[in-house]
Amino acid sequence: MSDRPDSREPEVLVIGGGATGIGTARDLALRGVDVTVVDRGGLCSGTSGRSHGLLHSGARYAEADERGAAECIEENRILRRIAGAAIEDTGGLFVGLADDDADYFAEKRAACEAVGIPTETLDPDTAREAVPDLADDVERVMRVPDGVVYPSRLIAANALDAEAHGATIHPHAPVESITVEDGRVSAVALGGSVDGTVRPEYVVNAAGAWAGEVAAMAGLEVEMQPTRGVMVSVEYDGLGPVLNRCREPDDGDIVVPHGDEVVLGTTSVPVNDPDDYEQARWEVETSIEECAAMLPDVADAPVVREWWGVRPLYAPDEAERGGRGISRGFFRLDHAADGVDNAVSVVGGKLTTYRMMAASTADLVCDRLGVDAECETAERELVGADDPERLDEAITRFDGQGPTDVDVVGTAD
Ligand SMILES: Cc1cc2nc3c(=O)[nH]c(=O)nc-3n(C[C@H](O)[C@H](O)[C@H](O)COP(=O)(O)OP(=O)(O)OC[C@H]3O[C@@H](n4cnc5c(N)ncnc54)[C@H](O)[C@@H]3O)c2cc1C
Repeated sequence: MSDRPDSREPEVLVIGGGATGIGTARDLALRGVDVTVVDRGGLCSGTSGRSHGLLHSGARYAEADERGAAECIEENRILRRIAGAAIEDTGGLFVGLADDDADYFAEKRAACEAVGIPTETLDPDTAREAVPDLADDVERVMRVPDGVVYPSRLIAANALDAEAHGATIHPHAPVESITVEDGRVSAVALGGSVDGTVRPEYVVNAAGAWAGEVAAMAGLEVEMQPTRGVMVSVEYDGLGPVLNRCREPDDGDIVVPHGDEVVLGTTSVPVNDPDDYEQARWEVETSIEECAAMLPDVADAPVVREWWGVRPLYAPDEAERGGRGISRGFFRLDHAADGVDNAVSVVGGKLTTYRMMAASTADLVCDRLGVDAECETAERELVGADDPERLDEAITRFDGQGPTDVDVVGTAD
C-alpha cells in the first residue's frame, strides 16, 4: 500500500467483501480495471453469509414490488447458468392454508405472470407427491422457480474469478478513516492485515448494513434502516422444494431445504446498530411455529443451529413504503451529487440480485474512469462453478465461511 516501498495504488477500492462488493470487484476486473477489495472481517462475514439462502424467483415480492420481483427472476435465471455448485435448483412451492386468503393466492399468481415468473398451480394431492408431510389444511399450491443459494461458495467463486483477472482481496482489513479533499476521496486508511493508506481513483462503498457508517467517514450521509432476522435450522431429511407461505409477507414464511436439515425463518425487526442488537426468543419460536403450519413435523424436530442477520435496507425507501412491503430493489447512490466526485454507495437489494447490483455499480465506475468495456458477468460461468472442492478450499483461504451453508461446504465428494 502507499506507505510501503513495494506498494501500488488500486484504481478502484471496493469496501465490503459481501456478495455486492466481491461481485463488483469481479465485474470490474473482467473489464480490465485494477481493483482492490477490503473487508473488516473474513469474506462473507456480513449479511451475505448469514442470509436464509433462498434463490428468489421473485414470487415473494410480485404483487407488492414489481421492480424487486423482476430483478429477482432475471438474476435467478442468470445464476442458474453461471453459478454451478453455489446454487441448488430445488424449485419452490407457494402454499395457501385453509385460513389464508384465496384472493391473495390468485393475486400473486396473476402478478407473477405479469412480471414473467412462471407458475404452475397444483392440487394439494399432487403437491403431496413432492412433499408428503405437507399440512392437512393446505388448500392451494403454486410451483415457482425458487432455488437454494450457498453464499459462501457464491462469494468464493466471485473472489476466485476476480483474482484470476488481477483483483487484490484483503480480508481482515477494516476501513478506519476516509479523507476527502477538494471534492474527492484522496485517501483511505486501512487497518488489520493491510495497515496502511491507499489513494484510489474511485471508491465503492458496498458495506451493506454498515454503508452508513462508512459513508459518514467521508462526511456523506447514507441513511440505512437495517432489520434483523433469525434463521433456525432443524433436522429434516430430504425436503425437495423450498416452501413459501402464500399470504402477505410475515414472520416465519419460508422453509429452505438443506440436505438433512431445513432452514426455517425469518423475522424482520428494525435495529439501530447492526453490530449490537437484541436476539429475541419470540422470533425463534415464531419462526418454528409458523413454518410448522406448512410442515408440521418441524415443530418438534431437533434444532441443529440458529443464526441472525441484518438486512441492508435503505431508509428513505423504507420510510416511503413502511413495514414489510419495502422494496427489495437496490439503490446506487452516486456521491458526485453530494459533492464527492469519486465515490458511490450501493445498498439494498438481495443476495439473489448481487450480480445486477455489481453490474450497475461497475457501469458507473467505468463511465467515471473512462473505461470502455461491457459487463460480461451474466455470460461467463463463475470460476470453480463446477468444482465444489475448489470453492470450499477458497472459502478457507478467504476466511469466507458464513453460517448459512456451513452444513454444505466441505461435503463435496
Ligand atoms: C435474515 C435475512 C435473511 C435473508 N435472506 C435472503 C434470502 O433468502 N435470499 C436473498 O436473496 N437475500 C436474503 N437476504 C438479503 C441478503 O442477504 C443481503 O441483501 C445481501 O447479502 C447483502 O449483501 P452485501 O454484500 O450488500 O452486504 P454484506 O454481505 O453485509 O457485505 C458488507 C460487508 O462490508 C463489510 N464492512 C462493514 N464495515 C466495514 C469497514 N469499515 N471496512 C471494511 N469492510 C466493512 C462487512 O464486514 C460486510 O462483510 C437476507 C437478509 C437477512 C438479514
